[in-house]
Order: sequence, then structure tokens, then C-alpha cells
Amino acid sequence: MPSEADQGCGLPIEQAGNGFLLLVTDPETRGQQSTTSSTRALDQHAFDERLGTVGAAPLERVVVTTLQVNIGLRCNLACHHCHVESGPKRTEALDRRGCDRILELLGRNPGIETLDITGGAPEMHPEFRHLVRGARALGRRVIDRCNLTILFEPNQEDTAAFLAEERVDIIASLPCHSLENVEKQRGRGVFDGSIRALQQLNELGFGQPDSSLQLDLIYNPVGAFLPPSQEALELEYRDELSRQFGIVFNRLLTITNMPIKRFAHELHRDGEFDTYMNLLMDHFNADNVSDLMCRSMISVGLDGTLWDCDFNQALEIPPLGPRRTIFDIEDLGELEGSRIATAAHCFGCTSGAGSSCGGALR
Ligand code: SF4
Ligand code: SF4
Repeated sequence: MPSEADQGCGLPIEQAGNGFLLLVTDPETRGQQSTTSSTRALDQHAFDERLGTVGAAPLERVVVTTLQVNIGLRCNLACHHCHVESGPKRTEALDRRGCDRILELLGRNPGIETLDITGGAPEMHPEFRHLVRGARALGRRVIDRCNLTILFEPNQEDTAAFLAEERVDIIASLPCHSLENVEKQRGRGVFDGSIRALQQLNELGFGQPDSSLQLDLIYNPVGAFLPPSQEALELEYRDELSRQFGIVFNRLLTITNMPIKRFAHELHRDGEFDTYMNLLMDHFNADNVSDLMCRSMISVGLDGTLWDCDFNQALEIPPLGPRRTIFDIEDLGELEGSRIATAAHCFGCTSGAGSSCGGALR
């Protein structure tokens, strides 16, 4: 079993996954380096040091109310910013045994209020409906992170109706209300499909003011900048989508692009990586720390491994302490009070108004 020093904050370069490059780990080496912006951007201890300056280190989990499960990497799209690098050719997925174990754990842990299902396109997973039905039968809130266009793929014709029947909350990606920006990030034809899907969901009652079927939209910047005010952008989306397409929705959630995986590769390619990291670091906002999503959720990987969050999972940054899976833990409450593994990408969650899978934190 690796020691704590071998994991998380002390993670050696070779264990740091392949998405966040050139992490500086050795304090002596760090001390010898010049304080260029590049050094700052690549120093994985910078986040903990910054937390320390506001008395918030180490970062610890408070309570577990959400289980976020990445059930598969297959997706009908291959977006530029995708932090799990999903696409039509990916086949990795949680198996039936894993899905059943999730349901078993939910049954044993009444404090887990929400099952947040992500991917890939979760709806493409053969056990998606089994998992949804099981969690709803246990009375849990279920979130489907839906890319919208999936609703028009073969064999998905009744997916929207299924989601309505099971009263699943939909969180749908729509990085802009304009065709140009959406297709720049998500590919050609995606805007049209997204709009048609939103109209279909509205017809079923999702997002309607007199309905409890929840439809939230997600915005993330189409480039290396921080999201604008969530409140102001929600008004803009509401006006534009209603005026142009007659679409209604409940909330707009703004999410900061994390400097990892595909987006990190793009930043490196365009010579913008350091600038973006410095932007995130310079806008560190201590008020966000208490609400970081990792403080109240656990992320489950494709083989059932537990992670501190979806981003750490994508970067293969393991939780501090013993490695555990859904198969060797009975009580998720055991994870309360545990330390959270952090690295420089965490500045993506604390910057500006903050960012989480539930949108801005402020
Ligand atoms: S729709 Fe979501 S999961 Fe699929 S490629 Fe785009 S960002 Fe990744
Ligand atoms: S990336 Fe964000 S959610 Fe994940 S551990 Fe860091 S601060 Fe927490």
C-alpha cells in the first residue's frame, strides 16, 4: 500500500496521470527554481500553500451527501474541453456488478441524497436505466448529465420520456446560446441538436415553471477565461433561448474550464497554459473553500475505485490514505473527515465566483 507521502499532494510525477503535465514535487527542487510564471503554474503544492495562507489547509471532507458515478467514457460527441476525453470509440465502463453495488451502497447509506450520473454520455451505458430506476426506487435524487444531442442517437428515441417518467433531474451542457460558440467547442451540428432536444424536454415538462421536472443548463467558457457572473448570464440565456427558440429552463450553472486533459493540451499547444494557470491563481477566492464540492461528495470510477472528485479521477490523483473501491467499503460515512488530495488544478474550483458540478459557488 503506498504511503501518504506517495499520494495526492506528494504525488510523484510518474503517478500523476497524463493530463496535468510537469508537476513539481520536490521541495528542494522547487526552492532552486526561479519564480517565473511557469514555475508557479506547475507547482502542485501551490494550492495547499494558498489554502494555508487563509487557514484552510488541509482540505477535508465534511459530509457525504452526493455520490457521483462516472459510468462510462463512451460518448456520441468528442468536445474540445472534455476533461475525461470521451468519444464514440471509448469503451471503458462500470459493469453490472458495479452498478448493483452502487445501489446496495445507496440502500445502506441514507445520508447520500443524490446519485449524480456522469460519463461519457451516461444514457449510452447498457445499465443506465437499471441504475436510475434502482436509485429512484430508493427515493434518491438522480442527476443525468446529458449532452442533449444523445436524445437523437439510435436507440435513444424514448430516453427523454424515460427521464421524465423516473423524474430524473437533467443537467445539460449548452456552452452558449449562439450556434457559433457551441459548435466551436462541441462540433458541427451540435447546436441544432441541442436546441431540438431542449424543445423536446420542455414539451415533456422539464424546465417548465409549473412542473417539478428539473432542467438546468451548464455554461463553460469557450476559451481560456473565467465564466462571467452566473446570475447575469442566466438572464441572458433566458432571454435569448426564449426569444429565439421558445425554450425555458430552471437554472444556468457556470463552470470554470479545468486546466486538465484536452483543455490543458489545447492550452499547451497555444502557449496559453501558464497564463491561464496564473489567471486561476490570481483570482483565488478564499470564500469558495468551504463550499468546494469535494467536501460533500465522493466520485466513483469506471472500475468502482473511489476518488475525491471527478477531476482527480481524470488525473489519476488518488485519495490520501488507503485506496478503496465501492466493493470494500460498507459505510460511506467512513470517508467523512478524511483529507482530500489536492493539486494545482484545484485553483479551477476556487477561482473567482468558484466552480463545481453544481455551478458557481458564490
Ligand atoms: S458531451 Fe460531455 S462527455 Fe461527451 S465529449 Fe463532450 S464534454 Fe465529454
Ligand atoms: S479539483 Fe476541486 S473538487 Fe477536486 S479536489 Fe480539487 S478543489 Fe476539490
